[in-house]
Amino acid sequence: MKLTGLHLLLTYQCNFVCDHCFVWGSPWQSGTMTLKVIRDILRQAEELGTVDWIYFEGGEPFLYYPIMVKGVREAVQMGFRAGIVSNAYWGTSVEDALEWLSPFAATPGGRSLIEDISISSDLYHYSDQTSQQVRNASQAAEQLGIPLGVISVAQPETAGAEPAVGKLPIGESKIMYRGRAAEKLVSQATLEPWRQFTECPYEDLREPGRVHVDPLGNIHICQGISLGNIFQTSLIEICKSYEPDGHPITRPLLENGPVGLVQRYDLPHKENYADACHLCDEARRNLRARFPDVLTPDQIYGLNLD
Ligand code: SF4
Repeated sequence: MKLTGLHLLLTYQCNFVCDHCFVWGSPWQSGTMTLKVIRDILRQAEELGTVDWIYFEGGEPFLYYPIMVKGVREAVQMGFRAGIVSNAYWGTSVEDALEWLSPFAATPGGRSLIEDISISSDLYHYSDQTSQQVRNASQAAEQLGIPLGVISVAQPETAGAEPAVGKLPIGESKIMYRGRAAEKLVSQATLEPWRQFTECPYEDLREPGRVHVDPLGNIHICQGISLGNIFQTSLIEICKSYEPDGHPITRPLLENGPVGLVQRYDLPHKENYADACHLCDEARRNLRARFPDVLTPDQIYGLNLD
């Protein structure tokens, strides 16, 4: 497994409680990285030697602003390229957004500290597809020479929205019915027979170029599927020992998608699901007691406070 990107879930907390969120972000969530934890992750990424990009995301990383800024600075000093994913709640005016973003500004003739800020803006986050906060943040980023893109998740059944592999790309992506979406949005979806979900449409489970690491140390190949914990096993060791065809969850997913999970472990299921992630999410919930170290943590299965 050759990782080129590490996405730090700086915190599971968020100021919003979006229906489509697949990490169940909310103000009541727990789990936030300390500087010590960030440094440990950066050191392990450096030792691995293949990581180019470090993203700071969440939850909402701007909730822990000084820690995020310091983490970005230290990552860049170590030679990584840095990016942030945010909902831009802080873009209350252009002048204010300039203050929030100024630590990342481009120096004259140089490049900005962060090479990407991806802003989530859609009808889950705000009442308008592109909110005033996002417009303010975009203007401020432009003035500061910071590349900014807007990512949005389509409403259920929006025609033309495409599935996206890896980090959500700029533009509109299809909703994935996992996490809170599997509970809140399925009633608006057209359901399909379960047997057709024979592959994972979103993640490269054999050769993931990027993974998420959370405040508890879990390395997620897809949110809620852990390959190991870097507080117990080094990132180098996790990458070296990852065997897609030996892992209890990725193996059946690679063989036959979420249907493979149901068949391999003889799981109960309904006749119809909204998408592959919906079936996968339910199957994994049914397997948590059997694979507690892999299907973790509680936060991603919505077993915290909300
Ligand atoms: S099918 Fe499962 S592993 Fe693939 S993206 Fe959806 S939830 Fe993740």
